[in-house]
Amino acid sequence: MTTRLLHVMLRTESDVFVARQRAREVAAAVGLEHQDQVRLATALSEVGRTLFTDRDGPPAIGAEVWFGVDGGTLRVEVVAVQPAKTVRLPTLGRLVDDLTVQDGPTTTVVRMSRRIPGSAGLTADDLDRIRDDLSALAPRTPLDEMAEQNEQLLAALEETRAHRDDLARLNAELEETNRGVMALYNQLSGELEETNRGVVALYAELDERSAQLRAASEAKTRFLANVSHELRAPVTAVIGLARLLDDADSDPLTEEQARQVALIRGSAADLLRLVNDLLDLAKAESGTIQPDWAEVDLRVLFSQLRGTVRAMATGAVELVVVDPSPPATIRSDEVLLAQVLRNLLHNGLKFTAAGSVRMSASRAGDDWLIQVTDTGVGIAEELHDRIFEEFYQVPGRSPTGATGTGLGLPYARRLVTLLGGMLTVTSAPGAGSTFTVRLPAGGDHGAS
Ligand code: ADP
Repeated sequence: MTTRLLHVMLRTESDVFVARQRAREVAAAVGLEHQDQVRLATALSEVGRTLFTDRDGPPAIGAEVWFGVDGGTLRVEVVAVQPAKTVRLPTLGRLVDDLTVQDGPTTTVVRMSRRIPGSAGLTADDLDRIRDDLSALAPRTPLDEMAEQNEQLLAALEETRAHRDDLARLNAELEETNRGVMALYNQLSGELEETNRGVVALYAELDERSAQLRAASEAKTRFLANVSHELRAPVTAVIGLARLLDDADSDPLTEEQARQVALIRGSAADLLRLVNDLLDLAKAESGTIQPDWAEVDLRVLFSQLRGTVRAMATGAVELVVVDPSPPATIRSDEVLLAQVLRNLLHNGLKFTAAGSVRMSASRAGDDWLIQVTDTGVGIAEELHDRIFEEFYQVPGRSPTGATGTGLGLPYARRLVTLLGGMLTVTSAPGAGSTFTVRLPAGGDHGAS
């Protein structure tokens, strides 16, 4: 329900000034902000001017203006008496929250409203007090109101100018920031270009170094292959000659001579083994070994190895070769695979004084895992990589007194890689060793 606060009569156009002034007073009394007071007063003044002009028909004969508060809203109702005419109000939508025009045959009713912020605090007593205060205020002359209106206009102009200055300042700041960002961007892209150039140069150097390394490695392999090849014939000759000297049909040797000839034969045999191992490794490294891919039955291979390696096992060490359960086929090169496994079994027997050396095979997904486990001296963790280096041998003699060249494991690893797999070790001193050959059951597709 609307509580009426003030009533104003308009008889001529000059009364519109009074209505304007009263509208501002009412708006101020109910707590509207200065800007909103001016907006409401301007809206009412425009409505009054429109009603009292004869632009779209005869002007109003008179009008009544009611100001009231309804809930949290200030309402203004203008009832104008005038001959029938359609009132076209200028666009006032932004000045008030709500505006309606109702044209009748003899009256035109215009209703406007504006929400009062924080109006919850207005009690009935407040409204009574406001009504009394408003009725006590004497209306000012149209001239006063005009002067007031001018002041408001000037204030609005000043505000607009301040806004424009603010905008200009903001624009200047934005321009400055843009310049800064562009400078940073240019600097960054310069640095990036510089870095890229460095990376490209580094890669070129890296490529060059890799090519040099490859060339050096190939030269080393060629050298090893040539030297071993050249050495093989004289060493074989030395072994043959020593055997001749030792032969029963030859002149008998003194005991000392026989001992020295035996030494020559032993050393020459060691040399021949080294030469042969070097040749094998050089061949594997030069890439001239092409696996002969075929279906290999691991059970057959295991039983052959059992037969050939058994001779090496002494009484204190048991050689156990566990037959894999059928079907146990793998696509591989039987000769190369046999060389790898024989090598691992030999090593196991060489470095185990008592206990066992055991070989078994199991499937792990698409791979076969072939493991050679011994109960021998074991290898310290920090040497697990080094034993795969050429000529490396763990210091200290093997418990069985057997000698070696330090070329067996590097060669075995080369072959397993050629067959598309991996050779790894787990071992600890005193706890034995396990060498694992992991090979794809279907062969190395990349190489086959
Ligand atoms: P070697 O001809 O000396 O056996 P390898 O390359 O086969 O050469 O092995 C390198 C070294 O790795 C061996 O000298 C030995 O010290 C160590 N090694 C290899 N297999 C075993 C094993 N089963 N147990 C303990 N040590 C081993």
